[in-house]
Amino acid sequence: MIINEVKMTENKVQTSKWKKHEIEENIGHEKYDNDIYQLQVNDFMKIFSNLHPSISLVCVCGNHDVGNIPDEKSIDQYRHNFGHDYFSFWCGGVLFLVLNSQYYTSCSNVKELSEKQDKWLTEKLNTHKGQRIIIFQHVPWFIDNIEDNKYFNIDTNLKQEMLEKMNSAGVSHVFCGHCHRNCNRYYKNLEIVTTNAIGATASEDPSGLRVVKVYENNVIHTYYPLDQLPETVG
Ligand SMILES: [Zn+2]
Repeated sequence: MIINEVKMTENKVQTSKWKKHEIEENIGHEKYDNDIYQLQVNDFMKIFSNLHPSISLVCVCGNHDVGNIPDEKSIDQYRHNFGHDYFSFWCGGVLFLVLNSQYYTSCSNVKELSEKQDKWLTEKLNTHKGQRIIIFQHVPWFIDNIEDNKYFNIDTNLKQEMLEKMNSAGVSHVFCGHCHRNCNRYYKNLEIVTTNAIGATASEDPSGLRVVKVYENNVIHTYYPLDQLPETVG
């Protein structure tokens, strides 16, 4: 259940004395239209309200939050609970772009919203081309090979086009979840990092989380099983 997983995260973060860092979370496990969903949202809010105030929480919209095939209602509900489903923020001279990847996996019921996000993204990438840019999104563009479709189902041509657009704007990393396993691959200079779940995993990697350190000239990310988390990050 999500409450256990969130509680595990909270305990680890609180006991690790982490400060001034963002935590990226994949929010719900139940489908957004399930009765249990709102209870999970309430649990999430309650537990994360206890985070140390110097830790910023960044929510990234996933398929369980708005449905595998989102519609306006599910997007509205997400925005009501968690704020906008795509947005940008600056931290330490790096532009972070948070995307709703459901607009790329299955946008048949939300074409206008999907086009809006894509226009917004294109403008951001054009305006800040060559600056340091990192992207967060739930569904990775690909796991092992760019040709793979599998469950992740982002059209191959679209994948190619989006990866090219991001790479040529100088985006250095795309951090993703969804697959409940760890993987990192490159598309040209763009590193696509997929991180295991903090709950049930789909691989031999134990549950854990990834610590990303952003330095002046590089980014170093390390996956830690929950029982091996460092006491501090800095
Ligand atoms: Zn997912």
